Amino acid sequence: MISLDIVLMVGLLGLILGSFCNVVIARLPKMIEQEWEYEHAVFAHEQDPEQWPVPAEPNLSLSSPRSHCPHCKTTLRWYELIPVLSWAWQRGACRHCGKSIAWTYPLVELSSAALAVAAVIYFGLSLQALAAYVFLMFLLAGTIIDAQTQWLPDKITLPLLWLGLLFTSLGLNPLAVSLSSAVWGCMLGWGLLWSLATGFKVITGKHGMGGGDIKLLAALGAWLGPLALPSVLLAASLLGLTQALWLRWRHGQQGAFAFGPALAIAGAMIFLWGLQ
Ligand SMILES: [Zn+2]
Repeated sequence: MISLDIVLMVGLLGLILGSFCNVVIARLPKMIEQEWEYEHAVFAHEQDPEQWPVPAEPNLSLSSPRSHCPHCKTTLRWYELIPVLSWAWQRGACRHCGKSIAWTYPLVELSSAALAVAAVIYFGLSLQALAAYVFLMFLLAGTIIDAQTQWLPDKITLPLLWLGLLFTSLGLNPLAVSLSSAVWGCMLGWGLLWSLATGFKVITGKHGMGGGDIKLLAALGAWLGPLALPSVLLAASLLGLTQALWLRWRHGQQGAFAFGPALAIAGAMIFLWGLQ
C-alpha cells in the first residue's frame, strides 16, 4: 500500500511535469517550423548569396525565451507559473492584457498529476509506473498538438516508438508485452496504415492520411503488441467518425480532419482496458 505522503509527492511532481508538457505542446510545433525555415533560408543563401541574406539562427527552444503570455508576450513572474492555481486565481486570463489563456493548460497539468498518482497506485513506486505515465503523457501531448495544428510531429511519435521498444526490452512493459510482440506490433502498425495510405493515394491520387498517423500506430504497436491493433483501429474509426459527424453537424465542415487525436485516445483506451 502506498502512503499518503508519497501520493502527494507524486501528485506534485505530476503537476510540475504537466507544466513542462504545456511548454512542449506550445513550443514544439513552432520550434520545428523555425528549424525548417532556417534550413530553407540557409539553402537559399548558399544557392544565391547576392539575393538571399545570411539567415538568422532559430531563437526558440524549450528553455528560452522564458515563459510568457501567448498574446502580449509579457514574461510571467514565478507566481504566475504555479500549475493550475495561477490559472484559477487569474480566472483563466492574462493579468496584463486580459486575454484568455486556454483551458488546456490546467487540464494538462491536472491530467499529468492524476496519471502519475494513478500509475503509482496501480504499479507501486516502480519503473513500470514511469513507463505507463510516459506512454499516456506522450499520447496526451500528441492529441493536443494534432488538434491545435492538424499535425503530429515526428518528435512526438518516434520517441514514443523507441521508448516503447526500450521499456519492453527491459521487461518494463506495463501490459507485459514481450519484446518480439512489441517489434511485430510496431511493424504491423506501420505496415497497416502505410498500405492503407498508399492504396488510397494510388486509387484517388490524393493524400488521405498523414505520415504522423502511420508512425503513431507503429508506436502504439510497440507498446500494446500486434493483437491490440485491430481494437485500436476500430475504436479510433468510431471516434473519428463521431468527430467527423459532429464537425459536419455543428460547423457544416466537410473533408479533412485530424485522425491523430482519435488514434491516440483509442490507444490510451485500449491500454487502460488491457490493464484490467
Ligand atoms: Zn497577456
